[in-house]
Amino acid sequence: MNYKNITVAGSGVLGSQIAYQTAFKGFNVSIYDINNDALARAKERIINLKIRYQKDLGATVEEVNAAYDRITFICDLSEAVAEADLVIEAIPEIVQIKTDFYKKLCEVAPDKTIFTTNSSTFLPSQFAEATGRPEKFLALHFANEIWKNNTAEIMKHSRTDMHVFDEVIEFAKAIGMVALPLYKEQPGYILNSLLVPFLEAAQMLLLNEIADVETIDKTWMIATGSPKGPFKTLDIVGVNTAYNIALGKAEAGVTEFDRLAEFLKSEYLDKGKLGRQTGEGFYSYQDVMKHKKLGVSLAMS
Ligand code: NAD
Repeated sequence: MNYKNITVAGSGVLGSQIAYQTAFKGFNVSIYDINNDALARAKERIINLKIRYQKDLGATVEEVNAAYDRITFICDLSEAVAEADLVIEAIPEIVQIKTDFYKKLCEVAPDKTIFTTNSSTFLPSQFAEATGRPEKFLALHFANEIWKNNTAEIMKHSRTDMHVFDEVIEFAKAIGMVALPLYKEQPGYILNSLLVPFLEAAQMLLLNEIADVETIDKTWMIATGSPKGPFKTLDIVGVNTAYNIALGKAEAGVTEFDRLAEFLKSEYLDKGKLGRQTGEGFYSYQDVMKHKKLGVSLAMS
């Protein structure tokens, strides 16, 4: 793997983290976003990340500044990718935006450039044609708070070149990730293929009044030795995310999910109980409540 220059397209929540982590591990990074306002927000996000890296990883001021200095911020796509060995796309999860982006990208990127998508819900084959180089395209999917939650799911589609797949696995390791290869396309990758049905099973037990939140969590924790049960996990993920998934299934006609969506809305969302982020979900979080009362920003906690 000879990658040196990496372009991260889209500098929102995940893009800014991917860019900073990559720079922190010594690569040259260009960040591409649609305009200067978006790039200004990216700079702010990355300045906040410098603080997190010092606090969470014990990085020195010199290290966090050197990483920042390896990043350039560019809103011209051809300039941003002129030297790119690899592009990591982290733009909004909207099919048309991604398709249009890949069509433009394939016209301006050098032939050597490998394209990857950080999409959480789409499959790479959906965009393979638009990239103009299906054999050099695959998914490279990170988790939020990449510097701590350092998984990288690397998923090929049927036409991805095996050599390219192996190179991207090497790259993921080089930026400090635990590389998790998926040899075939799978919606939700590995993590959500396991987690979503597990969390839904727990919610159905509650919805059908089989057992209460504490009992369901206790059962899972004691019987499997797991430190957290499904409802503690749901509070971290956010009840709004669980609701969106339930609503999607209800709209697709999956039985019982209309009842689940309604229950989550009336019992939790409408009462402001979104999980840990709001201080209350399936459980109450006194530490978060206290922060809220004092008006302390949670962004850094
Ligand atoms: P976000 O909304 O925070 O950021 C998107 C960024 O893309 C913004 O800076 C926006 O200005 C920019 N953008 C919009 N259109 C663009 C275009 N045409 N070209 C370049 N940039 C453009 O989104 P996010 O949460 O960072 O998610 C980005 C991708 O990462 C999605 O595919 C999502 O599924 C995936 N992802 C998100 C998370 C998460 O926890 N947020 C986790 C894993 C994967």
